[in-house]
Amino acid sequence: MRQFQHYIGGTFSDGATQFDSRDPATGAVWAKMPEARAIDVNAAVKAARTALLAPDWANMTATMRGKLLYRLADLVAENAHSLAELETRDTGKIIRETSAQIAYVADYYRYYAGLADKIEGAHLPIDKPDMEVWLRREPVGVVAAVVPWNSQLFLSAVKIGPALAAGCTVVLKASEDGPAPMLEFASIFDQAGFPPGVLNIVTGFGPECGAVLTSHPEVDHVAFTGGPDTARHIVRNSAENLASTSLELGGKSPFIVFDDADIESAVNAQVSGIFAATGQSCVAGSRLVIADKIKDEFLTRLIEKANEIVIGAPDDPQTEVGPLCTQAQLAAATELVSDSIVAGATVLAGGQPLDRDGNYFPPTIIDCSKAPNAPCLTREAFGPILSVVSFETEAQAVQIANDTAFGLASGVFTKDLTRAHRMIRNLKAGIVWVNTYRAVSPIAPFGGHGLSGHGREGGLQAALDYTRVKSVWLRTSDDPIPDPFVMR
Ligand code: NAD
Repeated sequence: MRQFQHYIGGTFSDGATQFDSRDPATGAVWAKMPEARAIDVNAAVKAARTALLAPDWANMTATMRGKLLYRLADLVAENAHSLAELETRDTGKIIRETSAQIAYVADYYRYYAGLADKIEGAHLPIDKPDMEVWLRREPVGVVAAVVPWNSQLFLSAVKIGPALAAGCTVVLKASEDGPAPMLEFASIFDQAGFPPGVLNIVTGFGPECGAVLTSHPEVDHVAFTGGPDTARHIVRNSAENLASTSLELGGKSPFIVFDDADIESAVNAQVSGIFAATGQSCVAGSRLVIADKIKDEFLTRLIEKANEIVIGAPDDPQTEVGPLCTQAQLAAATELVSDSIVAGATVLAGGQPLDRDGNYFPPTIIDCSKAPNAPCLTREAFGPILSVVSFETEAQAVQIANDTAFGLASGVFTKDLTRAHRMIRNLKAGIVWVNTYRAVSPIAPFGGHGLSGHGREGGLQAALDYTRVKSVWLRTSDDPIPDPFVMR
């Protein structure tokens, strides 16, 4: 049985108590995880606050912070294989995906390493002749980062990278589901040479750990990725410390295919958009919005591909769809399909859990043409479940696509350039992919609005969001201060 530990103040420690972690592929307990309670969270925040003020971090040049991040990136790349294996073991995410994603996580750290000494202030052309005024960008302070189970190494990198580049310190709460890769990452981070307490990693449950962390009086900013219901707790928690928040939440993203699209390419992108990561992706293209004229041909090809998908053990390199992370996810997927059938929807592929050990749910396609109120059109599945609706006109496509409280991602497939531009303008989403889907990069901002949250991860803006601006006024005149009763 593997045992994992917390990482607080540069040392490894057990939690207040422990909990079991189950292998999603078998359901068997395979590891003991430390469980953080208030005592551990307080220690982690104290370590982060101490590190923030300690000269070896506070006075470190931005260039040196960048060098440490480069070293971390190299260590992540060197250890990508073992990190991928651990993430696959603890979350059920398939090894094909974890291997590729963790290699790319190293590039995210490299991007923010390079950015560390390019976070510039500004000099202002102030409207007073005897003043020099400039803006300093200073670290926002202690960051509480809270992540869900899916892609934890990735979702953490988009917080830890920019936060450390900006000079902040971080307490990261790994998800209680599948925390192993983050706790292992701590030992890799430890070798990079950062001062103790700059990054602290704990895991535990929402009320006992997450709530204590995000409402902690010594936390300045909360960077959260998870579901909208938890985000409401986060916002309420931050009423205690008045910390700023960034929220990366879920989605019900439309995948729109016009009748002039390259069908083969669109079908492949739809397979990737909804069935990759077993659908446990915030940007899952979970609503196919398809032109009436090509609906039958498109669905025939899609169903054929869905039925050919290799479902299997997540550590098998041949596997394309693995188990869902938790039994609760499996139950939620099952319920979503049965609720949608009750609402009049028709299952075209999959639809029921597989009769085998582990949390296996097959690629599922549901036609909602006759069920406009089917819950699978509005409720985030976070599983391999695709809902289908069709349209006749471009205006209808936009109306259907935007008929959601979420606003994270969208995909448009068309060869018509002017239509593509109109769709880009009209779609209510933080990301529009045209003739592609599920592409990400450290260079491009990522995030949404509405129930999908606010704030952006990735790109320069993310690093700026971990800073606050200080306005500095310096008087250059030796003359006595004029009338003290008039504001200058
Ligand atoms: P979740 O909201 O249940 O949990 C996320 C994290 O919040 C966990 O670490 C959990 O322990 C913690 N938490 C729970 N209650 C808390 C509380 N009261 N205070 C503080 N922290 C608390 O999310 P999940 O179900 O684990 O993950 C799936 C969700 O994450 C989906 O909605 C998905 O779309 C979203 N997601 C979004 C993105 C994005 O970048 N936009 C990426 C991945 C996942």
